[in-house]
Amino acid sequence: MSFIPSASTLVSRIASLVAFRICPVCGRPSGFRDAPDALCAWCMARLYPNGHPAVAVPLPGERGRILAESPFLHAGSARDLVLGLKYRGRRGLGRIAAGLMAEAGSGAAVAGCILVPMPLCPSRIGERGYNQASEIAFPLARLLGAGISDCLSRVDRPPQAGLQAVERRENVRGTFRRGREPVPEGAPLVLVDDVVTTGSTLEEAARFLTGAGGDVAGALTLTYRPEFRVDIID
Ligand SMILES: [Zn+2]
Repeated sequence: MSFIPSASTLVSRIASLVAFRICPVCGRPSGFRDAPDALCAWCMARLYPNGHPAVAVPLPGERGRILAESPFLHAGSARDLVLGLKYRGRRGLGRIAAGLMAEAGSGAAVAGCILVPMPLCPSRIGERGYNQASEIAFPLARLLGAGISDCLSRVDRPPQAGLQAVERRENVRGTFRRGREPVPEGAPLVLVDDVVTTGSTLEEAARFLTGAGGDVAGALTLTYRPEFRVDIID
């Protein structure tokens, strides 16, 4: 074991001494302590607003479809944030994602709505120890003044990453189950996840909730990852 601190540890120690704080996404010293969740200027410059239309998710019943709103493209610092939250155990990034989503605003998160975090497969929860969608949804509910419900769970299936649209739809069919709580009735439900690609997982979840008596009104994700092409690859 080495007792020599790593470069990043040294940077964070020096930053704490001079009352600077560390950017929650990239770890560089930036800004002052009065805005602990703010991204540094470099990460702010690498937040690419999602100029694409919201992903339309078909839904049975009166609504006919819902929109998955994502304020940022899955690129730059928003992608770094998702990867850190998902694969590097950085749970605190959920709160940062929630702050960015709340700031961006949403047509779906109306007063009295209830957020429903998209569940993970049990095997993935076992590996990761937490569900990144819940890490986003809880602080987001507080920021939006919305409710939250753990009414959805799912069974194990292979990951969606790397699959084409048709395979994705096939892979998630029948994967959702009721969660620890009953599906809320009489309030608009808004699904929350970190990233949306084709919307097939959201569609399957929305169909399940609708079939169980829920009124799914929309979906919110931090990023949108186009299926075939990402224009910005930094
Ligand atoms: Zn940064």
